Amino acid sequence: MQKAAIAVKEAVPELIVIADTCLCEYTNHVHCGYLDVGDLIGRVLNQPTLELLKKTAVSQAKAGVDIIAASGIMDGFVQAIRTGLDEGGFEDLPILSYAAKYAFAYYGPFGDAADSAPQFGDRRTYQMDPGNAREAIKEIELDIAEGADMLMVKPALSYMDIIWRVKEASNVPVAAYIPVNTP
Ligand SMILES: [Zn+2]
Repeated sequence: MQKAAIAVKEAVPELIVIADTCLCEYTNHVHCGYLDVGDLIGRVLNQPTLELLKKTAVSQAKAGVDIIAASGIMDGFVQAIRTGLDEGGFEDLPILSYAAKYAFAYYGPFGDAADSAPQFGDRRTYQMDPGNAREAIKEIELDIAEGADMLMVKPALSYMDIIWRVKEASNVPVAAYIPVNTP
C-alpha cells in the first residue's frame, strides 16, 4: 500500500491520497488486530494493536499520503496515531476517523471479493450496535477529543440517521462511506 501511495503521488502529485489504516488487510484471520491465542470470538487485544497501528500510520505518512483514515476502531486509536504522527514530524497530517462503523451484510460480498471476511467470529466485538444511535455520538466525541479532523460514517446508505446525528453533534467535516458493491 505504501509503494502504491508513492507511485500515485509521483504520477499525479495533486491527487489526494487517503490511506486506510488498519491491520485486517494483513492478518491471516482478517480481524483488525492482534487476537488472544485461542480466542474464537475475535476480541482484539487493544494495546499491542495500537502500537502496531501507530507504526503503520507513520509508515504511510512517510510514503506521502495526505490523510490517514483510522479505519480500525480500537479504543484510543485516534490518540495513538495522532501521537505517532506528531512524534514522527507529521503534525499537519489530518486524521479521518471511522467514528461510526457498523457490521452489516453489505460487507459480505465486499469481504468475499477482497478475501477479507473473518475466518471465524465476526467484527461485532469492535463494531457498533445499530440499535444504539447514541453510542455513535459518544464515539465521535471521544474521537474529536483524541484529535480526529474528519469523521466517517460507514456504511452510509442505511445509516442516514447517524450521518445527521454526527453532523448535528460535531463541527468537523463528515464523510459518508458507501461500499462499492452496494446495490
Ligand atoms: Zn480492519
